[in-house]
This record gives sequence, C-alpha cells and structure tokens, in this order.
Amino acid sequence: MTIQWFPGHMAKARRQVTEKLKFIDIVYELVDARIPLASRNPMIDEIITNKPRLVLLNKADMADPKITKEWINFYKSNGIQALAIDSQTGTGLKQIITSSRDILKEKFDKMAAKGIKPRAIRALIVGIPNVGKSTLINRLAKKNIAQTGDRPGVTKAQQWIKVGKDLELLDTPGILWPKFEDQLVGQKLAATGAIKDTILNLQDIAVYVLNFLKEEYPERLKDRYNIEELPEEIVPLFDEIGKRRGCMVAGGYIDYDKTSELILRELRSQKLGPISFEEPKQFEENESNE
Ligand code: GDP
Repeated sequence: MTIQWFPGHMAKARRQVTEKLKFIDIVYELVDARIPLASRNPMIDEIITNKPRLVLLNKADMADPKITKEWINFYKSNGIQALAIDSQTGTGLKQIITSSRDILKEKFDKMAAKGIKPRAIRALIVGIPNVGKSTLINRLAKKNIAQTGDRPGVTKAQQWIKVGKDLELLDTPGILWPKFEDQLVGQKLAATGAIKDTILNLQDIAVYVLNFLKEEYPERLKDRYNIEELPEEIVPLFDEIGKRRGCMVAGGYIDYDKTSELILRELRSQKLGPISFEEPKQFEENESNE
C-alpha cells in the first residue's frame, strides 16, 4: 500500500490518532527494526505527548540481531522500553503484555488502591504504512480482522480486540506518515520495501544499497556475488554483479535497471542475510552535529 501524504491527510491522520488516545492506556509504536529512525513518524512524540509507550521493533527477523540489541539498549538508556518482534511468526509477542504491565504498574496499582476493579490494558498500535500493523493485529488476535476502513456518514463505535484476558487492542491502528522529505530516509524506506520503487529511481536505491553494503557488510556482497575483491567505485561493482548474473542488453552492455532490481529483490528476500541500515551510534553522532 502506498499512501500519498498531503498536508490535509497528515492533519486528519494526526486527529484520528489523537482522538483514540482518550480510550487507551498505552501506545505501541511500531517501527522497522532495520531502520528504527527512518520508519518512525517525525512528530510522534508531539502527537502521543505523555501517553506511556512501548516501542516494538518489528521485522526483527530481517534485522541484524546485534544491532537490534544495541537499539533496545539505546531506547532503555532514554527511558523507553523496546522489544524486538517478528509479527509474521509471532516471535517476541508474549513479552508485549508483560512489558505493558510493567510500564503501567503504577497506574494500575493506583486504580486498585482506589478500589477500581482490575481490567484489561487498552492499547493502540501506531506506525507508518507497511511497518506491519495489520500483521501484528492479526497475529495478536489469532485471526484475520476484517478491514472496516472509514465509511462516510457512519460513526463507528470503537471496536476492541481481546488478546487473552489482559489486553485489548483498538481494531484500527493509527497510520502516520514517515519523514519522507529527507532523501536518505526515502532511500532507506525504499530499500526495505516500505515505499514503492516507482516513487524513487530504482538505480538510485540500488546505488544507496550497494554503497551501504560495501561499507558495512562487504563479506556478504563478496559471498553472494562471488567477487573476490570489491571494486572501489560503484559502477564497476554494478558491472561485476550484472555480468555475473547475466543482466545484460544487446552489445554486451550491463542492464542497470535489471541489475538494480536483482539487488533489491535479493536484499528484501534475505538472500544477503539479516541487515540493519541504522545503528544508534550514527544517531548519537547526528544529534551532536546538530
Ligand atoms: P501495515 O501497512 O503497517 O498494516 O503493514 P502490513 O501488516 O500490511 O505489513 C506489510 C508487509 O510486511 C507485509 O508483506 C507483511 O507480511 C510484512 N511483515 C509484517 N510484519 C513482519 C515481520 O515481523 N517480519 C517480516 N519478515 N515481514 C513482516
């Protein structure tokens, strides 16, 4: 799904999330474990203000496990609990309830002290498109929830999905926009498949990916494409991969579109192994440069 975000849509999306905050105890901020910064909404702190939050690093199966641990520690050192999850298989989901209870302990203890009967924790999932919100809801609900969507003129009551006896989720997640005006963010979102390739130039995305892999995961590139020594420059590296994979056009030239497509397909289908495009280290460096 690709959503075109215009200022009016952003304002509406924000309003919808703000409306829902009234009904819930905690926000589950879903991000992509490979790009926890690029896949978050730039205004999230402002939108959810002081609601308790649990960050869920989704698609952790596709991220570098060592870097995911660093992210969890990074959040922790900033006073935020974060969990690595895989919504497709359900790995890590049990911990969501335990962590939510932990985060909300004080609130629920206070309610108990006032004699209020214990009730399930109420949560809202928020995140940018394609981060895995529906997959997570369906996994937690253990069934396929019909997508109701917005119907003009029909005021829909809030629908709750029960997850065991301790958790209730709002059935429609909050969809927020990414920081797409930043070119690097766009490239990361495209590389991980969060936005359609047609929005950005295919070759630009592949160049970004190859440069990144050459720096951070050179051995994976060498192994996958059987290259002994990686060329310094990006064009010869493209040529090398294109040649080895038969991405050629008449006259013996490299078909760069086809080579780009191949690289991105292999990256997204995990042929290059689990890869993280962002580390907390870079974030800390950026912060101190600003
Ligand atoms: P939404 O737009 O946020 O509701 O995202 P979806 O739930 O539609 O998920 C977008 C894509 O990501 C789908 O192809 C899902 O199968 C895939 N996906 C979601 N969660 C995971 C995960 O934890 N691991 C992997 N590998 N893929 C996932």
